[in-house]
Amino acid sequence: MIIPAYTFVASATSVLLAGATPVIADVDPTDLHMSPDAVRAALSGRTAAIMPVHLAGSAADMDPLNDLAAAHGLAVVEDAAQAHGATYRDRPVGGLGDAGVYSFQASKAMTAGEGGLIVCRDESVYERVWSTCNLGRRLGGQWYGHPSVGWNLRLTEIQAALLLPWLDRLDEEIDRRNAFCAAFERELATIPQVSVVPQPEGTTRDSRHLLMLRVDPAVDRDFLLTAMAAEGVPLDAGYPPLGTMTALTAEGARTEPCPATEEAARTVVWVRQSMLMDPAGAGDLAEALAKVLSGGPAVNRP
Ligand SMILES: *Cc1c(COP(=O)(O)O)cnc(C)c1O
Repeated sequence: MIIPAYTFVASATSVLLAGATPVIADVDPTDLHMSPDAVRAALSGRTAAIMPVHLAGSAADMDPLNDLAAAHGLAVVEDAAQAHGATYRDRPVGGLGDAGVYSFQASKAMTAGEGGLIVCRDESVYERVWSTCNLGRRLGGQWYGHPSVGWNLRLTEIQAALLLPWLDRLDEEIDRRNAFCAAFERELATIPQVSVVPQPEGTTRDSRHLLMLRVDPAVDRDFLLTAMAAEGVPLDAGYPPLGTMTALTAEGARTEPCPATEEAARTVVWVRQSMLMDPAGAGDLAEALAKVLSGGPAVNRP
């Protein structure tokens, strides 16, 4: 299964736990989402599926990826863990491939503390997922008959009760985060060392799980992170390339060359979702960045 190199580790571990081989492919150097060209280069006779990740709340460019998958008979599993409410060409992400996976873990835009949701197109996939989450039972079959091996991965009703009100407020929260990003982008015009990582083509609604910023490579990013934290505006360094995680490669994950991901791992920083919830804070973020980046020689590597 081909997965992008700039994503959370679970995109890879889920493939390993299913007994398949994650093949880690580079991302697009501009928008940092799965690259159709990199997927094409990573294809082999053993490739069965691809996993576009809707990173940071914007949609992977699904049309070329779906076309590529159709041409090679591959399944498409969308990792929509960060993209509740996001749309691609006005269609909700998660419903654009064969199956889509959402997370309700504590850092996500809809959360029940933990848990998740899988949506799928095909009835047989639904039955298989249900069985896997229900100790290998067969849907409609005997309670203590377990024709396959599964786990107890059920979301509880208490968690579902926590999630339901989000269906009424998710849109408003997404609007708020987009308002933050729009205001912040206007402020950024005066900060030449920082730019917003653009959305892939086709994102019609970005759910803004977080905001990814590209920082000029001449800026010492560790200093930037430390100084921003001291300003009371902590930013995150983001993901290392998946292919550098030896626990994954030791279990059989394979990696393609990933220069764009390595560059992102060095130069991208994330603004946390909690900060995006209040559009009035956009000016504070820009002000802190401007202050830290105008700090003279300390900002720049020797
Ligand atoms: C959070 C996240 C996951 C994992 O979700 P869990 O519910 O914690 O298993 C997978 N992929 C991405 C991209 C994520 O951000």
